[in-house]
Amino acid sequence: MTRKLYWEDAYASRFDAEVVRSEEGKVWLDKTAFYPTGGGQLNDTGTLVSGGREYKVSDVKKDGEEVLHVLDGNGKIDVGSQVQCTIDWERRYALMKHHTALHIVGAIVMKEHRGVTTGGQITETKAHLDFDCPALDRERSMEIVRKADVVVGEGREVSSRFITREEALSIPDLIRTAPGRDLINSLERVRIVDISGFDVQTDGGTHVRNTKEIGKISLLGIENKGAHRKRIIISSVL
Ligand SMILES: [Zn+2]
Repeated sequence: MTRKLYWEDAYASRFDAEVVRSEEGKVWLDKTAFYPTGGGQLNDTGTLVSGGREYKVSDVKKDGEEVLHVLDGNGKIDVGSQVQCTIDWERRYALMKHHTALHIVGAIVMKEHRGVTTGGQITETKAHLDFDCPALDRERSMEIVRKADVVVGEGREVSSRFITREEALSIPDLIRTAPGRDLINSLERVRIVDISGFDVQTDGGTHVRNTKEIGKISLLGIENKGAHRKRIIISSVL
C-alpha cells in the first residue's frame, strides 16, 4: 500500500521516495504526496528526479491501494531507485482552496435550502457542485456565496483525521443522506474534514488549514442540469 503523504500533510510539496514498481512511463512509489484524481478533485502534476534525470508527472491515478504516477513521455525508472519529487504547488494550492470553498458552499446549501450535493468537480481555475435543489436560482446562489465569503473571513481552522465507523455514524452531519450512510457502513475507518464549528464531511481530498487562505469566492455561474438539479460554479483564484 502506498503511504499517502497528502493525507498526513496537505502542504508537503517536496518529498523523497523509493520506486517500488515500474513500467515504461509509469511509476509506483513507497510513499507519495501526489494526489490521485478522486472525490471530484483533479490529480496533482509535478516532477520526479532520479539519477540526474528529470521526469514530468502528467497524471496521477488511484490503483487499488496504490498510487500510479504517469510520466510524460517515455522513460522507465528502476525499482529501488530513490526519487526526489516536487509537486506543482501553484496548481495543488488552487485545488485545495477550491475544495475547502466547495465544502463551505455545500454546507450552506444544505443548511439553508436542504439541497443535497449530488456531485462536483475541482479544477485549478474553477470548481462546481451539483445539487438536488430546485429552489436554487441566481439570486439565492449569490446570497450563498456571500455567506460563504463570511465563513472564509472568519478564519476557521480546517483539519482532517480518521475516525472509526461507529464514531462517524454518531455524527449527524455525516449521515444526513442515504449514500453518505452507505459509504460509512462500507468502511472500517472514515476520513473526515472538519471546518471548525461549521461543517464536518467525509472526505479524501486535500484542504487549506484555515478558511482565510481561500481569499474570496467568486460566483462564475449557475446552470440547470435537469428538472431538479442545479450547478453552482465558483472560483477563488480569479
Ligand atoms: Zn470534499
